Amino acid sequence: MSEPLYLAPRLEPRLAALLDSPAFLHPLVTALGSPLNIVLPDQIADNVRGFRDVYARHRLTGRIFFAHKANRSSALVRRLAATGPEAAVGIDVASLGELQHALGGGLTPNRIVATGPKDPDYLWLAARTRTTVAVDSPAELTALAALVERFRLPRVPVLPRLSEFTAPGTRVLTRRSRFGTPADDAGALLDLAEKHQGSVEFTGVSYHLDTMGLAEKAVALEGCLRVLDEARRRGLRPRGLDIGGGFGVDYLADGAQWERYTTELTRALLGRRAPLTWEGHGYGLRGENGTLRGALGVYPGHRPVAGPRYLDELLAQTAPSLGRPLATLLLENLYDLHTEPGRALTDQCGLTLARVLEVRVTAAGERLVRLAANARDIGLEDHGLLLDPVLVPGAPEEPGRGGPPVGVYLLGNLCLESDLISRRLVFLEREPRPGDLLAFANTAGYFMDFTADHALHQPIARKVAVYRSGEDGPWSWCLDEQYWPHLTAGDDE
Ligand SMILES: *Cc1c(COP(=O)(O)O)cnc(C)c1O
Repeated sequence: MSEPLYLAPRLEPRLAALLDSPAFLHPLVTALGSPLNIVLPDQIADNVRGFRDVYARHRLTGRIFFAHKANRSSALVRRLAATGPEAAVGIDVASLGELQHALGGGLTPNRIVATGPKDPDYLWLAARTRTTVAVDSPAELTALAALVERFRLPRVPVLPRLSEFTAPGTRVLTRRSRFGTPADDAGALLDLAEKHQGSVEFTGVSYHLDTMGLAEKAVALEGCLRVLDEARRRGLRPRGLDIGGGFGVDYLADGAQWERYTTELTRALLGRRAPLTWEGHGYGLRGENGTLRGALGVYPGHRPVAGPRYLDELLAQTAPSLGRPLATLLLENLYDLHTEPGRALTDQCGLTLARVLEVRVTAAGERLVRLAANARDIGLEDHGLLLDPVLVPGAPEEPGRGGPPVGVYLLGNLCLESDLISRRLVFLEREPRPGDLLAFANTAGYFMDFTADHALHQPIARKVAVYRSGEDGPWSWCLDEQYWPHLTAGDDE
């Protein structure tokens, strides 16, 4: 075989230690089945601290709202509820179910922001509990005000969501979105906020752009500042702005592996080396008569500026038309800065385990590894994240029974041609054996339960919360829904 092309996951100490505990992981899968999702609630508390440090460095106040949609876990939500100081940590919910879940997990309404598409039930519960509503449109603001009046509720805080910003004098503008009110129409929103002052309290504005582009986000942030200025001229009293999520995660341990892999992938698609993908799949690229066409549509797995560091760089950006650092402008106006990280707060917060069922070699020499899990349980491929699983041996490794490295395709458990957990050749240090586990690391953000379903009556993964007392105490576990923060020793704030 040619040289293995690894894409090793970045593992921080907690997740690495867990992966290095086969004697703990195997009985869990025996008891609870494959696939199995594991979440690490204490990690999310550490991640919050990473964001808070950036706030402190820029002397900014405001709340870090975890975007709940990244993971359905109860343990993560409850652990966040226990994370202090209370004023700094909250949750962004995007459905009635998520709002109920957050309230039930101990987050009080002052720590919740309700975003996403709303139906009357969702809007009513948000209004009744005085949860801040990121209203999506003038019509939604009107509907909310009507509910407040009809049920004689106290004023509800609102943080209208804006989109489609432009910067005067520059050519950068933000992408279109199906959510939010175009910034050019903010005047109409402010008119309504003034008109309904008895039922809604205009606390500021928000945006969420599904992009990593710093320049685009700087335009949006500045656009919000301009709307807040206008609001103050009208006598409204905005207190801050919410810049949404999209801080990203650095998934790969080694940037050089990523460079090498993408180079070899293009060579393979041009027919200049042995195939690296199933049936010539190109992740958006294709070779045509010796020329590469299309664009590589994968998540940039190696992303050193991600999470808190990305926030830090955004705040240091110069406002495109005001010409001064964004952090300075926020500070001078005494505005709170709110953020809604989803993926970035779930970084290193969990993994997905799948049992190896069968290893088969085709007539063409391809090695197929069938797992007790499918591509909906492990959403990496669907999201274009190319990341190797970690082999968790079923039996203690005997000396000499390791290697040599092999390249394999990972097949799922659905009776469906397309059910491949990887359409690329995945390199492992040795051939897996039935009874081994493959651990997909860092799946807690969107890859764990976002698309899992009961197709073919296959089981969906159970989820367990895993924690330990101290740095190297024994691991403990419970079902995700049984986790409550008092189980964890650390009051770490
Ligand atoms: C999805 C979403 C987020 C989180 O995005 P990430 O990329 O996971 O950080 C934040 N805010 C809103 C409104 C969202 O829809």
